[in-house]
Amino acid sequence: MNVDAYARIAVKLVNSPLNTLDDLKALLDQTAETRDAARDTLTDRELTIFRRAQKRLRGVFEYSTAGRDADAVAELNALLETFPVQPRITAHDSSGWHLHVTSRSNSISATYLAGAVWGLTAWLCEYGSTRFGVCADARCGNVYLDTSSNCCRRFCSERCATRAHVAAHRARKRAAEERNLASVS
Ligand SMILES: [Zn+2]
Ligand SMILES: [Zn+2]
Repeated sequence: MNVDAYARIAVKLVNSPLNTLDDLKALLDQTAETRDAARDTLTDRELTIFRRAQKRLRGVFEYSTAGRDADAVAELNALLETFPVQPRITAHDSSGWHLHVTSRSNSISATYLAGAVWGLTAWLCEYGSTRFGVCADARCGNVYLDTSSNCCRRFCSERCATRAHVAAHRARKRAAEERNLASVS
C-alpha cells in the first residue's frame, strides 16, 4: 500500500457507521490487509477503541476545513503517540519491495489505526493541511481528501454536489416566483 491507500483507509473509517461489531467487521472486510482479522473474534473493547479514534480522526478533517491547521497538526501528532507506527518492508502478490505500516502490537485496532493515522500524516506533509474536507451538505457529513488542482472541492461526491446544486436552483426559482407574485398583488 502507498500513502494514498493509507490515507483512504482513514477516510473510509471516518465515513463508516460503527455502531455494532458487525459494522466494524464490514469495515475491516473492505481492506485486503485486514480481511483475515475481520473473521477473527473482535471484541467490544476493540470497537470502543475504533469509535474513539474515528471521532479524533474526524476532528482532523474538521480543523482543516475550518482553517485551523495548527489544531489539525496537534491532533495528528497526538494520534501518532497513541497509535505508534512500525514500518516494515514487504512484498506480496508479485509486487516489488514496498513499505507497510503496522504497529508493534498484534491487535487489529492498533495495526489498522496506526496505518490510518500515518496515512493522514504523510498526506498532510505531502499535500498541505488544507486538503482535508468535510462535505458541505450538512445532511451528509462525509469527509474526503481534496485532490482537486485548485483545492476548491466542497462536497464528498458528485452525488452530494448535484443534490446541492438542484436544491439551490429550486430555492432561487421559488424566490423569483414569490417576487413575481408580490409584484402582481
Ligand atoms: Zn502491500
Ligand atoms: Zn456528501
